[in-house]
Amino acid sequence: MSPYSRLMTVPHLVTEIPGPRSRRLHDERGQAVSAGFGVTLPVFIADATESTLIDVDGNELIDLASGIAVTSVGAANPRVRERVAAQVERFTHTCFMVTEYEGFVRVAQWLNDHTPGIHEKRTGLFTTGAEAVENAVKIARAHTGRAGVLVVDEAYHGRSLLTMAMTAKEHPYKTSFGPFPADVARVPNANPLRGRPVADVLAAIEQTIREHGADAFSALVVEPIQGEGGFVVPAPGFLPGLREIAYRYGIVLVIDEIQSGLGRTGQLFASEHEGVVADLILTAKALGGGLPLSAVTGRAEIMDAVHPGGLGGTYAGNPLACEAALGVFEVLEDPGLLPRVARIEGAIRGRLEPLLAEFDVVAEIRGRGAMMAVEFADPGTLAPRSDLAQGVSAACHAAGVLTLTCGTYGNVIRLLPPLVIDEAVLAAGLDILVDAIRSTVAGGPDSTIADATEEDAA
Ligand SMILES: *Cc1c(COP(=O)(O)O)cnc(C)c1O
Repeated sequence: MSPYSRLMTVPHLVTEIPGPRSRRLHDERGQAVSAGFGVTLPVFIADATESTLIDVDGNELIDLASGIAVTSVGAANPRVRERVAAQVERFTHTCFMVTEYEGFVRVAQWLNDHTPGIHEKRTGLFTTGAEAVENAVKIARAHTGRAGVLVVDEAYHGRSLLTMAMTAKEHPYKTSFGPFPADVARVPNANPLRGRPVADVLAAIEQTIREHGADAFSALVVEPIQGEGGFVVPAPGFLPGLREIAYRYGIVLVIDEIQSGLGRTGQLFASEHEGVVADLILTAKALGGGLPLSAVTGRAEIMDAVHPGGLGGTYAGNPLACEAALGVFEVLEDPGLLPRVARIEGAIRGRLEPLLAEFDVVAEIRGRGAMMAVEFADPGTLAPRSDLAQGVSAACHAAGVLTLTCGTYGNVIRLLPPLVIDEAVLAAGLDILVDAIRSTVAGGPDSTIADATEEDAA
């Protein structure tokens, strides 16, 4: 569907949310799909534009989630669709470890050229974000000959066994799924709202390293802005401090840009805001424009430390996903795109920051670019108010705006609009969000909707 084929009177609701067709399909789902899968909003999608999702009942919802930062160029981007359609006509798969195809090499070259740092680089393509994290650890271990992995508080790195161990939040990600791989150590985070001063945090991290032994750790893995952990922008100096420590102890610095990368924060990579260059940088989510694709990109001497045959995967760098990524790159190279992301941040701050003075339970508006969050907490004690975040999100959903929550305590609303969202549609979505905050906060905890407590997925 052409993004301009509809009048921009959205959200456009023709039934309650979810509507009768979505409800019927959701009932069928219950009989067919494992109960282990959660859902943020039980609405079934039939079509999409650059800014909206259209459900099976004909409701058009404003998309402030991008499928968790995946459809950054929109869920129906013409460049992605055309390239994938053309590739489907040629062939769907060979397995890159069996016979090669050009798209894999072109994606690797683009990432080598566009990730921070002018050193010689190599890239490995995989399928999911968790796989990229696991492969970064494999590569760092092969390069250093060490086992240990350092991660920070509130981190999210995935749902596989190793990445569950690296993820901080217990429920729903780890509950009943252990035991986990050993050799993962967690260090404090420089969370400006709740954490200790940066110098103390860095000193504590060095102490942990010395306690384990200066040659214990292969990799230090960190998100430059935490995703699931609550869109925590680390205090200034934290990432450069980690860079220093990693150099000092010969640890591979792995920057997990799976959620924050590829234009999301107004720079191509969030680590650029602090001028920090990773040894290995991880991308996924937005990389494939909705098709499953992930990458590890980094210093040639580290990436090439692995023996031939040591890396791979049946679907790693699938040809359809590589063509989709090449379409995504065309959108990212448009010189108008990053300024557009800066305008998204301006619009969100302009609309939400006045609420800081209006409501003392609005604890912080934070983030960068199109990766913005509202945290709800009691004044003074900062006791998390997940009831408010869940209530606001439920009110947005009922009014046709798709929002997500996040945070260790589930008390944060996160906004991840497509980077190409129509500015009038974003404004309409923010109006509804502000109304939802006003009515939920003014109504107190009793006005929140009881069944809106399911966790978001990543
Ligand atoms: C989503 C996410 C992952 C895991 O990616 P999957 O594709 O779900 O395996 C890892 N790290 C971060 C920061 C993420 O946001």
